Order: sequence, then C-alpha cells, then structure tokens
Amino acid sequence: MTEHTTAAHRTRPQVRPKAEGWTQATDAGGRPLLQFREPRRTQPETHLADLSLAERKAKLVELGHPAFRATQLSTHYFEHYTVDPEQMTDLPASARSEIVEKMLPPLLTEVRRLRTDKGETIKFLWRLFDGALVESVLMRYPGRVTLCVSSQAGCGMNCPFCATGQAGLTRNLSAAEIVDQVVAANRAIANGELGGLRKDGGFDSPRVTNIVFMGMGEPLANYKRLMNAVNRMVAPAPEGLGMSARHITVSSVGLVPAIRKLADEDLPLTFALSLHAPDDTLRDELIPVNDRWKVDEALDAARYYFEKTGRRVSIEYALIKDMNDHAWRADLLAEKLNARGRGWVHVNPIPLNPTPGSIWTASEPAVTNEFIRRLEAAGIPTTLRDTRGKEIDGACGQLAAAE
Ligand code: SAH
Repeated sequence: MTEHTTAAHRTRPQVRPKAEGWTQATDAGGRPLLQFREPRRTQPETHLADLSLAERKAKLVELGHPAFRATQLSTHYFEHYTVDPEQMTDLPASARSEIVEKMLPPLLTEVRRLRTDKGETIKFLWRLFDGALVESVLMRYPGRVTLCVSSQAGCGMNCPFCATGQAGLTRNLSAAEIVDQVVAANRAIANGELGGLRKDGGFDSPRVTNIVFMGMGEPLANYKRLMNAVNRMVAPAPEGLGMSARHITVSSVGLVPAIRKLADEDLPLTFALSLHAPDDTLRDELIPVNDRWKVDEALDAARYYFEKTGRRVSIEYALIKDMNDHAWRADLLAEKLNARGRGWVHVNPIPLNPTPGSIWTASEPAVTNEFIRRLEAAGIPTTLRDTRGKEIDGACGQLAAAE
C-alpha cells in the first residue's frame, strides 16, 4: 500500500448508524425497541404441514377417516404440490373436499410476483389468512435452486439498515406458513415458471434444493415453529420434503440462548450470524439486540454451534460505506475469529443493498476488496455474496412487503 492510501485509510470518516426517512421505535429507556412478543397472536388453522405424519393420521382418524389417508394426502402435498381435491383421485370422491378443507386450508395467496435475472430470480409477495404480507425469493443457480423464506411477518429486531425492521413485528408465521412457501416455489418450478431451463427443456434442479432463512423476520425469535418447519423440510417424503439439513441455513442477529439451543438439536443445519461489526460500540447501534448479547457472547455461541454440529459457521457482514468497512475492523474481526480457533468459520461480506441518497450506501469496490484481502491474509476464508434480486427489491434486507 502506498503512503497516500494508508493516510487515506487513516482519515476515513466514521459514519454512525441512524434511521433515515423513518423513525426507529424506542423503548421506555430511549433505546431502539426490541419486540420478542408478537403484538398479533393469531395463527391460521392447523394445516397438514404443521403436523408430523403420526399426528396427521390421528387427526384423520378423529375426523372419521382411515389413517392411511394421511399418507395419500401427504404425497399429494409434499410430492406433487397438489391441493386440488379434483386431482386426488385416490381419495373417495365424496370425502375429498371435506378432507382437503380440514387438512389443507389455504395459507398463502399470491398477491404479486416479480422476475429478474432472465427469469432465474422470482420474488413472491404472499398475503396470509389475516391480511399480513410476507415475501420469499426464489433463485436458480448452476446446480441448485435456493429459496429465501420468511419466518415472521415483519421483524422485531429493529436494525436501522434493514427494510423489514422498519414496520416492527406483526406476528410469527406458523410452521405450515413457512413450509408452504417452499411447496409453492416447488409448484412454480414444476410448472416451468422459473427461468434457466436447459436447451432440451429439462432443468438441473426440479425443485428447491437450498433454503435460507434470510427473508423477513428473526427465525430464532420464532423458535418452536422454525424447528417444526425444519423438521418437515428434512423428513423424507411423504412425511416431508426430504431436503438435506446441510442445505438449510438459519440466519440470526445473535439471540445467544437460542443459538445454543439450536446447536443442541443434533441437526446439521448451517448457521449464519449477522455480525456486521466486530466492536460493540458500533454493533450496539447497528444491531439493537447487541444491547443484550455482546459481540464476544455471540461469537462464543457461534463457536459452540460449530463444536456441537461440526458445521462451519457463516459470519454475515454487510459492507456499509464509512460505517463498518474500515481496515482496522477487518483486522479486529479476523483477530476475534482466530482467537476462537481455526477452520470453524467463514465470512460472507455482502455489499449493502442501499437506500438511495442516504448514509446507507455500499462500500466502494476498492474498500470491499481490501476488507476481504485482510481477512484472507489472516487465514479466514471469505466469499463475497451476490446481490441477486436487487432490481426487484428482493435482495437481502429489502423485503418490506409494502403494498
Ligand atoms: N433476522 C435474520 C435473518 C433476516 S435478514 C438475521 O438478521 O440474520 C438476512 C440478512 O440480510 C441478515 O444478515 C441481514 O443483516 C442482512 N441485511 C439486512 N438488510 C440488508 C441490506 N440492506 N443489505 C444487505 N444485507 C442486509
């Protein structure tokens, strides 16, 4: 590095986080409000996907039908993505609509769909039974298809750079409302609606292979339903979707007790920690929950996750111009990660998806590169994440479901 750039780095300003264009809700002490409790405690009717196969059988018997109907119905839903009674010709015609009504109440109504990247990215806007809105984003990559799912309507974590947090938490999604996002995506893929078909008309991945809990909401604040949904995703068909736990990523702001609980579940899920700053001074303002659980506690919990599961943890780091992208912060991050061992973690920086004309702007490419270079020089594997779906406000942190 030349003298000049060194000096420039030293004199880089420190922009402090603050809400722009909206007012961050505060608690009685004047700090950003954290909502762990949902203001609206309503849940949709129980759906097949809320229940294990055994529970489905019990429910059908209760409704006066033989238990094996649960398996038939599960095959329709989890393997054929069918909820239309007309197509369920293996069920007695007289009972079809009643069974479907009781077991498969409609959960998601499509409000809008936006496409980009030659149709290889689709953002869905869904209306839930009570009018709440959530989004999911479907992305085809070579050899895999990723769905970014929502776990809550809104979010109570109040991070000043994230669009979802701005309206606060509406309510937790039910397990079935989470799973149904995946089934709806699989249905769209099966109907040929996601771009990226091969020349012969076929496609590499006929269904969603990877799930990231990086849509709306804080998944670990909706722990029970999150785990129930995950269980449906990994259960072999027809009980569930038969997905690999390794291909499911749970992303969190850092709810430490819940991270430790997740580590103890004995499921090889991938865990991602939204760190965004290695120092408490900045992280206190960037991630309000840092008030409760500090950087070191969050990193200790992440390390515990690795120890219990053997799964390498991801550290998410949105690079924000002159706010968290200083070279010394890259060095401090590397130091804190290396202090907890080697080979247990990798860093995923992502250029911030900006709010135009505000302090919330992505880092310059040269600064981004230098940040990555420093981490790598310290032996930390680092991959810059893409910003798929930016043009349709479908990229990370842009999901606001404004209607
Ligand atoms: N509540 C969870 C998951 C939802 S957000 C969490 O915080 O991890 C998924 C990721 O998008 C998080 O890392 C979040 O910090 C990041 N994110 C939020 N707003 C963003 C923005 N404007 N640009 C880039 N990433 C953003």
